[in-house]
Parts: sequence; C-alpha cells; structure tokens
Amino acid sequence: MRVGRPVQPLPHPNCDYCGAPASLARAGEEAYPYRDDHGPLWICVDCQAWIGIFPRSTRNVPLGRLADARLRNLKGELHAALEPLAQAKVRRDGCSVFEARAKGIRWVTELIGASLPEKGSIHSLDADQCERAVAAIKEFEQERGAHPSDSVPDDR
Ligand SMILES: [Zn+2]
Repeated sequence: MRVGRPVQPLPHPNCDYCGAPASLARAGEEAYPYRDDHGPLWICVDCQAWIGIFPRSTRNVPLGRLADARLRNLKGELHAALEPLAQAKVRRDGCSVFEARAKGIRWVTELIGASLPEKGSIHSLDADQCERAVAAIKEFEQERGAHPSDSVPDDR
C-alpha cells in the first residue's frame, strides 16, 4: 500500500470481448460457470468469459483481463510451458514456486516485447501474447538444447 494515494473507486472490469460491464458471480449462483467453488469471478455471461479475483481481496480486484474459452486454453498452455522452468528454478535457487512462476511470466513477457502491469501475472496477457509467449519458450528451449532444467532464466 502506498501512502498518500487518492482512494480508488472499486474495480469493475468490462468484458474484453463485448465491452459490457462484467458482473460478480459467486459459487452456486446461476451465472457461476463451475460446479465447484473457485472463488468469486467477474463474468460476462454472453461471452462466457471470466476472471477470478485476488485471494483475500476485499475489493474484488480482478486478477487480470476476462478470459474466454480460447484464452483460458492458451493460459493453460503457457502455464504448462513455464512450469518446468519454474520447477527447475525452485530446485536451483530454493525460492518459492510462486516467486519462480512470477519471475518466469515476467521474463517471457519481456522476451516477447510486452510489459506486465504492476502485480501483473499470466492473467494480464491476451490470447496473442500467450501464443507468442508459448512460441518464445519453445524457441528458447530449442536454442538451449534438450535440457530445459539447465535453461532456467537468470534473475537480473
Ligand atoms: Zn462480453
């Protein structure tokens, strides 16, 4: 928390596909897309696009942009591509897996010439950026040979 900042209005994301205001859905409600409780979600029912909120967020701050089925799949692919690098970094540096994942997503975002917002994560990326990031990781691993565990991105 920074001191001296004006109080910000409560976040209320718009759908990234149709532009309509998203609505907050909780487990058990009609609009909620999962059978199980994955926490509250900002959802656009028309586009079947949604995004979760930061854990323990009292202001329901969204984790990133709303994601439709295609973007959810691409985020899954990107996560899967990054995970071996993150796990290798945990083994090598002894950092937490959360830290390793956060550094990994920041690294690959820079690799594709994009930038993450403050507190940004994989959920900040759009479909095009996810596709480019997956391709960049594959290229990186090919260049470094067939041993992804040796190719952990260094901290700077
Ligand atoms: Zn929409």
